[in-house]
Amino acid sequence: MSFASEIIAWYCRNKRTLPWRDTSNPYIIWLSEIILQQTRVEQGLPYFQRFLENYPTVADFADASEASILRLWQGLGYYSRARNMHRAAKDVMEKHQGIFPIDYDSLIRLKGIGEYTAAAISSFSSNEARAVVDGNVFRVLARYFGISVPINSSEGKKIFYQVANELIDKDQAGLYNQAIMEFGALQCAPSRPNCAICPLQLDCYARKNDAVGLLPKKTKKKKSRDRYFNYLVITDQERILMNKRGPKDIWENLYEFPLLETDAPTDVQKLLTDPSFLELMEGPVQLTELSRPKKHILSHQNIYAVFYKLDSPINHKKNSSWNYVIKKDLDTLAKPKLIFTFLKDYFNKL
Ligand code: SF4
Repeated sequence: MSFASEIIAWYCRNKRTLPWRDTSNPYIIWLSEIILQQTRVEQGLPYFQRFLENYPTVADFADASEASILRLWQGLGYYSRARNMHRAAKDVMEKHQGIFPIDYDSLIRLKGIGEYTAAAISSFSSNEARAVVDGNVFRVLARYFGISVPINSSEGKKIFYQVANELIDKDQAGLYNQAIMEFGALQCAPSRPNCAICPLQLDCYARKNDAVGLLPKKTKKKKSRDRYFNYLVITDQERILMNKRGPKDIWENLYEFPLLETDAPTDVQKLLTDPSFLELMEGPVQLTELSRPKKHILSHQNIYAVFYKLDSPINHKKNSSWNYVIKKDLDTLAKPKLIFTFLKDYFNKL
């Protein structure tokens, strides 16, 4: 049996039943693919279901407000993906007469759709022979063929795409693509792959050369940047002061508390003498630390956040993105995970 036939046969015996499988609807495939990027299936599944319930068609998605899309997306991270989806849905309505494209060349022009997603949607919905290469596929190919070029280098990407496109079963491209991704997720898993019962074990380079734990290879990521966020929790009876984040930084258009970012860790005493803090105050200040620094890891940044309660008047008009929100309405706002986790804990304790 060929590599592709082995993988497909394995898939037919072992695949999980998932709601986005067994459909050729490109809109549903698109929803699932974007939601599942860097998200585990168990975590992504409820999001997929909520999105499909709220926006059953691409027209519904395009008509929705960005705020409601971000609110549904809350907790998944990478919020630019949700914004890009909104733009893509609008483009489908405006440039494709509301018909979600199924060909690679049209798909790749939509916002937020890269080579991987375009290949997935086109092959799953119209059987276009484009190989998908995600983390699972990189791993299977690297181990089986003994490819040691780093998967995150441009040379590696070129080689892996070439190999993947040579292997694809052109008559059943969608099935093959789903099969190799599932094979990587379940059988040739990152740690402890089940080599003993693997149908590819006899010809697998890594298995034969004791290199399973060494492949695939990656070049080192550049060091993450450390940032220090000091959040001011300011309440006024049933209202709480919130900041809507602006563009050109993480969490665009999401809500958080008024923020003072500092170059280094700080504390109550240092904050009380910080000129940018004092500038916001209207009178004598009382500040209480509500939490020890919480580390929040993003793809290229480490956020160290401390929450302080401010029992003093604050000149909130100094910042146009600050607005009081009634506490019971907080749930309707899209917030970064760091903020909604804090709020949940804070209100439970109050
Ligand atoms: S033998 Fe092991 S390493 Fe090789 S393809 Fe199978 S599961 Fe992966």
